[in-house]
Amino acid sequence: MPTTRHRDLVAAFTETSRNHPYLAFTLNSLCNLDCVFCKPRCMPDYGHKDRPLTASDYAAIAAEAGAWQIKKAHCSGGEPTLRADIVDVIAGLADGLGSDAAIGMTSHGNLRRGLSVEKLHRAGLTYLNLSLHSLDPDRSAEIMGGGDPRVTRRTLDTALALGLRVKINCVLQRTYLDDAFAVAELARDLPIAVRLIELQNIGPAQALFDTEFISEAEVRDRLHEWFVNAGEVRRDELGVRSPGQYLRPEGWAGSIGFISNSSCATCSDANRIKITPTGVARPCILHNRDIPLKPHLADGTLGNAFAHLFQAMLDRNANDAWQGFHYVDYDLRWDRMERPEGTPVLPLLPLLTTETARLSCACASTEER
Ligand code: SF4
Repeated sequence: MPTTRHRDLVAAFTETSRNHPYLAFTLNSLCNLDCVFCKPRCMPDYGHKDRPLTASDYAAIAAEAGAWQIKKAHCSGGEPTLRADIVDVIAGLADGLGSDAAIGMTSHGNLRRGLSVEKLHRAGLTYLNLSLHSLDPDRSAEIMGGGDPRVTRRTLDTALALGLRVKINCVLQRTYLDDAFAVAELARDLPIAVRLIELQNIGPAQALFDTEFISEAEVRDRLHEWFVNAGEVRRDELGVRSPGQYLRPEGWAGSIGFISNSSCATCSDANRIKITPTGVARPCILHNRDIPLKPHLADGTLGNAFAHLFQAMLDRNANDAWQGFHYVDYDLRWDRMERPEGTPVLPLLPLLTTETARLSCACASTEER
């Protein structure tokens, strides 16, 4: 049942004119590929050593989020489709957020045996973001450590035929720039949004950054002919809630967007509530207001947790210190990264009960190390 504080927080967030927050779940850390800028197996906690949230936990979190007018949940990883219960997870999120919600996933699109886009769609998936960096199988394998872009393309076609919205995530690297442009050109004939993503100087990408980074400005310059009479596509038309600009070149069926976290977007645009595989919610990597949700799931106080998260997001918005920080958008790393030295740390909020706070601290110290 919504409380006055609950309504006040939702109203205050709406007044900021920032996009309403959405749930961004990292469902796992496992991946059967090995992209050069991700390298999940290098992570010290790669694998299943923590007890992840269950499908019913996701359903409960989504049901609470629905009461906070949250209408979108996005699942990433790792590779979320490797979870044996992925169909149940999607169904739980769809049930919890309600029939008009957007339920999406980022995947490499090489789905394991027994899983299909049809099954995910029937469970409630409404959009799919596919990671695709080259259409050439050999060059794609150089980047992704395996997989087959032709399989990804079939997944894309199936998703479109089922009526899902499809976006392509394509990371820009100087060596593979022509590959990225070929991927972008899929939007000429297909009603998709291709997002050209700047390399971020974090994690394994640090080893590539000096030689492979190419900025949005340089890419726009190279593609200027496409953009001469391009019209801007509204992000809400595409179901996009994160930062970035989308352009539809004249005569194209789809659009091209840029996610330029290395040169443009800052934390003041961010609107995600990130939730790690073990259920730690983070309104922002740069401050200390993480909140483990498991104790709240156990004692039925998820409403307190959401009040804490909304307040943390509001405080960031009002604090000038946040406005200059580059937005970190790198799912698995985002969960694990330490806060950069010197970033402002906001005080914890006095919203939690003593008992819950005690449980939260214990949970954080044993599960997120
Ligand atoms: S970027 Fe995605 S597909 Fe590539 S290794 Fe990382 S989790 Fe796997």
